[in-house]
Amino acid sequence: MLNDPTTVLRGVGPKKALILKEEAGIETIEDLLYYAPRRYVDRSHFKLIKDCFVNELVTISGTISDVRVVRRRKRMLEVVIDDGTDTCTGVFFGGIDYFLKLFTTGDTVIFSGKINFFRVKQITHPEFDFIENADDATHRAINTGRIIPLYRSTEKLKGYGLDSRGFRRIIKPALETYAHQVIETLPEEFLAAHSLPGLRESLYAIHFPDSFDHAERARKRLAFNEIFFHQYYLAISRRFIRETSNRPAAEINTDLFHELAASLPFKLTEDQKTAIEEIRRDMSSPFPMNRLLQGDVGSGKTVVAMAAALFANGLGVQTAIMAPTELLAQQHFNTFQRLIGNRLRTVLLIGGLSSADRRKAYDAIASGGADLVIGTHAIIQEEVRFKKLGLIVIDEQHRFGVEQRSALREKGDETDLLVMTATPIPRSLSLTLYGDLSVSSIRTMPADRIPVKTLAFPESRLSGVYNSIEKYISLGRQAYYVLPLVEDSDKLDLKSAIGVFEHLKNEIFINRRVELIHGRMKQPERDAIMERFKRGEIDILVSTTVIEVGIDVPNASIIVVEHAERFGLAQLHQLRGRVGRGSHQSFCILITPDDISDEARARIETIVSTTDGFIISEEDLRQRGAGELIGVRQHGHGAEFEFADLSVDIDLILHAREFAEQSVARIDDITRLWREFRNRKYGPLLDGIRNKRILSILS
Ligand code: ADP
Ligand code: MG
Repeated sequence: MLNDPTTVLRGVGPKKALILKEEAGIETIEDLLYYAPRRYVDRSHFKLIKDCFVNELVTISGTISDVRVVRRRKRMLEVVIDDGTDTCTGVFFGGIDYFLKLFTTGDTVIFSGKINFFRVKQITHPEFDFIENADDATHRAINTGRIIPLYRSTEKLKGYGLDSRGFRRIIKPALETYAHQVIETLPEEFLAAHSLPGLRESLYAIHFPDSFDHAERARKRLAFNEIFFHQYYLAISRRFIRETSNRPAAEINTDLFHELAASLPFKLTEDQKTAIEEIRRDMSSPFPMNRLLQGDVGSGKTVVAMAAALFANGLGVQTAIMAPTELLAQQHFNTFQRLIGNRLRTVLLIGGLSSADRRKAYDAIASGGADLVIGTHAIIQEEVRFKKLGLIVIDEQHRFGVEQRSALREKGDETDLLVMTATPIPRSLSLTLYGDLSVSSIRTMPADRIPVKTLAFPESRLSGVYNSIEKYISLGRQAYYVLPLVEDSDKLDLKSAIGVFEHLKNEIFINRRVELIHGRMKQPERDAIMERFKRGEIDILVSTTVIEVGIDVPNASIIVVEHAERFGLAQLHQLRGRVGRGSHQSFCILITPDDISDEARARIETIVSTTDGFIISEEDLRQRGAGELIGVRQHGHGAEFEFADLSVDIDLILHAREFAEQSVARIDDITRLWREFRNRKYGPLLDGIRNKRILSILS
């Protein structure tokens, strides 16, 4: 049976079974069949021994003509094979007694390995398989003669003989004995329509494929299972929420919003209008909004949030806007005051308030005297009680954890949620990791914006860069100057913010106002420096990435990033977003040493070639892979797939999603199914190996 313990296999005793379980999560035969190889090596191309060259990786087959123990400097075993064209000697230094029993003159074997030459052609510790005869190679061989799977094997596993070879030795018979019991989980027509192989074939091919293409199709099929299950879960939860929500549909009074739109000093872009309309529709619907608003820095997300707050007011409920720093909260507060005036009664709730002011704010929030609260995580404190919280807006959502988001949600009942981010999420990720969110995107910038010019230079050109900075400062502009480290470090040969600050201040820009800001300073000190920069009292602000998020200084028109090779794509893009916020042409200058890795070079080229954060996020995913994307793991979305690759499987995701929607639409009792999922703890973050079990309940 598929759910038999692995001990039913020959060669797996209690000790090995325990290791399999603890080290690889493999308890049953089925788990073992789903244990994905890490990669493959191609040992399928046979060579005649006479054609083998020194240092070549080859696969050869022949008849054993001699087995002998010899003693050169050490005792060793030589196994000579002959294929009729030449001979080759397999040399074994360890396990001599074992191998001596294994190899018998006259047997036919395959050897794989690297050819060396010591009087005769040799392979040291070849990979080997025994076969009946040369034609039999692809059927019997598991270590040579074909495309060979390599498995993750930890040191510990190795200690018990479960390296790649050990896995092959138990997986092959497990496939042969048990794979026929695997039940197909997808309809025949569906598989045909999407050119996916069946489950049984895929399980076989993922381990022992006929070709790399075969392995890839099998991977896609198994990836589809994982993705489908995940989408199925999401579809069930969407339908469940829709059907069990008991808030009434509502007509929103949009008068205030129209007043705002008419009074704005600019016209809303089409994307802004669309986002606002999507939000209006969500907020008047009978179930809570769960929406992500993504758009590059400066694309105008704030007015969209403003519209949402006015809609909430039109529904008679309060709004809370949470920003990651006090400075940003303050900035939002000022913007709202300026554009909305007293249409909404707004309070600011940040850590730095006097206790009297804080009391006053709490009272206003609790009594309904405030329509809108703008603040930091101060908003999620116990003592903050809302009269009727109806809308939560979270700015720069990647700065907050899941817990903070839900803490805020719990302050209201069936509250609408809008999360905003300036780091667009690649489509495949938003459909999987954030699959419970609807997405609005602002792709076009306001028309009056001048795109930032991005230039990359080697360090040797720094003096020219200094000249440009000097020129723009004399025209009244300001500059950011960013470094990867605060202080010089013994371990890393990198320039630091403190070092460069001293250098620029004392040797280069002697008559300019150069200041330093970094993450080791206390928040109030940092805020004070940013305030002075904002007021134009600082010409050059040397910093680490602490300036990465949010702050708006339209007069800053240059950002220099030294050691740009040390930063990720998203980070560079965010840094660049600090400039280009005013009416002047802005510049982003990336400095690197001459000698950088190909990956770093690719990142820099991407940043230079586009200012579109949507393209950059897709490129980031492509270059780094989903597992590496910053924030994915830290923020508790660790949906890791065994077979799916979110950087290439977008089509699969779309198919799976559609298919899941259709399947869920046919279910009669959604509540029962939902409960079943919940009780068995099949959350959306299930790892790949478990998914298949649920799939069997579908058919
Ligand atoms: P972000 O999306 O980074 O939060 P903001 O909302 O801060 O961007 O907007 C950046 C600037 O663009 C603000 O000064 C805002 O008033 C302005 N802005 C927003 N929408 C438009 C528009 N449609 N046309 C012109 N300027 C706009
Ligand atoms: Mg913003």
